[in-house]
Amino acid sequence: MVVELEGGFLMNKGYRLVKRTMMCLIALVVILTTLCIAVPPAQGKEIAQDPGGMQKHPGVLLAEPVPPSGGRSTRVQPAENISDHSRVAMIIDDFGNGMRGTDEMFALPVKFTVAVMPFLPTSEKDARRAHEQGLDVLVHLPMEPNKGRPEWLGPGAVLTRMSDTEVRQRVEAALDNIPFAIGINNHMGSKVTGDERVMGIILSVCKERGLFFVDSHTNYRSIAGRMAREMGLPPVENHIFLDDVHTSGHVVKQMRLVQERAKSQTYCVTIGHVGVQGKETAAGIRSGIAELKDSVEFVGISDLVKDQWKWNSRLTLP
Ligand SMILES: [Zn+2]
Repeated sequence: MVVELEGGFLMNKGYRLVKRTMMCLIALVVILTTLCIAVPPAQGKEIAQDPGGMQKHPGVLLAEPVPPSGGRSTRVQPAENISDHSRVAMIIDDFGNGMRGTDEMFALPVKFTVAVMPFLPTSEKDARRAHEQGLDVLVHLPMEPNKGRPEWLGPGAVLTRMSDTEVRQRVEAALDNIPFAIGINNHMGSKVTGDERVMGIILSVCKERGLFFVDSHTNYRSIAGRMAREMGLPPVENHIFLDDVHTSGHVVKQMRLVQERAKSQTYCVTIGHVGVQGKETAAGIRSGIAELKDSVEFVGISDLVKDQWKWNSRLTLP
């Protein structure tokens, strides 16, 4: 229609001029039409080749348009912005014995770290499940306490009366029993974490295997952090127990303390448990996550250790 109108106007200017102009206009229309038709199928083809792309890479299709002339994007990117100052590494202890709260913990909507006791009925299963979910695994090594009954320790415990060789054998056996473990934290252990000889052996094994030790901090006189630092290992320690009182309400309150510490100290390591009150603890954690999720980032213990202490493992997972 455009061509006809303009062609009619140009008739008065002479046949050659009309013909040349018509040719130019037709060429222009052809080019424009080709462009309009060609572009959408190219995008459609990409989507058709990757039907799962929407789920796997939502950013690809739903990406915000790039602001013109290099302007800053105003899109909120919580994970990246928060990671600079407020990170929470939550460790859940006592997996491995099919304990109450296991499923509820695995269903939590954030990253956490799974500490598994060795030589128990679900030790290997829980470690594999954690790994499949992309969660870090620690060996939750039973270690002698100052007070408490030996039967609370579980199999394969490290005791201060053992010889150097026995301690080493126990630590190595526990590590061999838990697949995907990237470190150790202590179950109980207030006596062992105050014992320079035994801690020296545990940390040596960690160092040899490219692992790190997280002091659960059951002993305020623990020497584990100082010794780890002296041996060139990251001095990782628990700051807050979530479930020292076993109610969901208390856990929520502890989660608020975790938030405060993460904000003031840039990061916080916190520990909760599966067990007799595991479901209540998991419910409290879930409520706490809903409150905290916009102000802190939940990370695996390995993320924290790598960034905070520039830890570089020689570990190669199977
Ligand atoms: Zn424990």
